[in-house]
Amino acid sequence: MEQTQNITYSNAFPIETALEMILMFDKEGKILYANAQARQKLEYENDLCGRHISDIFPNTFQNYKEDLETEFFHQAEIQNLVAYRKNTTCFPVEARLTKSDSNPEVYICMASDILEREFLGREIERIKQESEEAMKVKSEFVANVTHELRTPVNGILGNIRELKNHEMDEVIARSLNLVERCCDDMNKIINNILDFSKLEAGKFILEPRRFHFRNMLEYVKANHINKITEKGLDFFMTVSPQIPEYIIGDELRIVQILNNLLSNAQKFTSLGKITVEVFRTAQVNDKIELFFVVSDTGVGIDKGDKGKLFQSFSQVDASISRKYGGTGLGLNICKQLVELMGGRIDVESEKNRGSNFSFSIWVGICEGEEDILQRPDDIKNPLSMSGTAVSHEENGKDPEAARKYGTRENRENINRTLSKLILCVEMENWEKAEMFMETVRQLTEEAPWEVKRVVLRLKMAIQKENYEKVTAEFETLQQFL
Ligand code: ADP
Repeated sequence: MEQTQNITYSNAFPIETALEMILMFDKEGKILYANAQARQKLEYENDLCGRHISDIFPNTFQNYKEDLETEFFHQAEIQNLVAYRKNTTCFPVEARLTKSDSNPEVYICMASDILEREFLGREIERIKQESEEAMKVKSEFVANVTHELRTPVNGILGNIRELKNHEMDEVIARSLNLVERCCDDMNKIINNILDFSKLEAGKFILEPRRFHFRNMLEYVKANHINKITEKGLDFFMTVSPQIPEYIIGDELRIVQILNNLLSNAQKFTSLGKITVEVFRTAQVNDKIELFFVVSDTGVGIDKGDKGKLFQSFSQVDASISRKYGGTGLGLNICKQLVELMGGRIDVESEKNRGSNFSFSIWVGICEGEEDILQRPDDIKNPLSMSGTAVSHEENGKDPEAARKYGTRENRENINRTLSKLILCVEMENWEKAEMFMETVRQLTEEAPWEVKRVVLRLKMAIQKENYEKVTAEFETLQQFL
């Protein structure tokens, strides 16, 4: 506690611990209060209070009698002020002078040491340069080490594949398969480390080019289907017909994100199904936004652990890395790649009920594709693999209008489907609810993004068979409609 003649502030008060020197003085120039920084820099103990302000700033305040007001208060800042220490040495400061709000008889001078500020500025610049240099050295080191590691691993892999062409007994074949798998895992880790260090150093460059979107998805599916079915899990993939055949993007990196999410889904699911869904959610000129959802019915993630997921080197708990392996870099790399593609990645998960990882990215569309996308044929087509085309005969109305979001027919159709859907939910017929959900999703395909977002959340809640969430999202959706 600092005792002044008539002003007291405790250490908990920001003025007392401020980085600037703060002096308060009365209209006669008598110092009433000096904060810790002022006492320390001016090398006084508690004897600063009671002195005259001109003892500290003799050049500025020497002529001061009673017109401090006219002399200084038209200036917001006083440049080139010189502050004198107790031992009469001095240093330049920059200061501001104001009147106290609570007491107009009290003046406040806030001053900072110019030399110290300049010194700190230079220090910050130096540290920044040093850390940039260290980062550069580190990424070069990582690049070299990973390259050095990759060469022998690929050498081993090549030899194993060569050996596998020869006749051998079952035991040796099994061992070779194991070594091959270890090498593949090692390659994955090496690639992850390399990507991570490039992303961290801001040296990662996307390589967009034209590619066949559905072929890319087939390739991703082929990568995982064996492992998924070996575990007895179901696999479904749904792609909106609104997505053109060819798009322009970094195919390799989109595959990498999907591979990572699907490997995790497969790794952490032992019962149920894994689904991949892709939607076109927005278009601006020749760019479209794609929205991917990878869902599983696996172990799920605790609410408290969600924040850790996309951080580097983060595994939800140590037992996971022991049981399933991994470096905890995968999701962080996915996040950075998704952000480079102009999107974001998110997760919705519940312990023991599964996870939905969703991400959006912006990709280019090829010349001429824009017209094709607008063709009503595409809008009419039911989603591939969904088998749940909307039955327009049911209400005998114009199918075009029923699909066109915002029309009366469309609204009626959605409302009718939603009431059937909620009935199924009440009866816990989740499979049928999912079917109606798909119809709602198709009917809202042209809806604004806010509506589509609620539809997707409702869909996820139904997939998870979460009654409370379904009713909450249902109500939100009804408000939109
Ligand atoms: P790694 O590169 O080691 O596979 P990731 O960054 O991909 O690590 O994942 C980090 C952690 O996130 C995993 O160890 C796991 O705890 C959790 N996780 C990721 N996906 C899922 C999922 N589908 N279900 C449950 N947990 C998951």
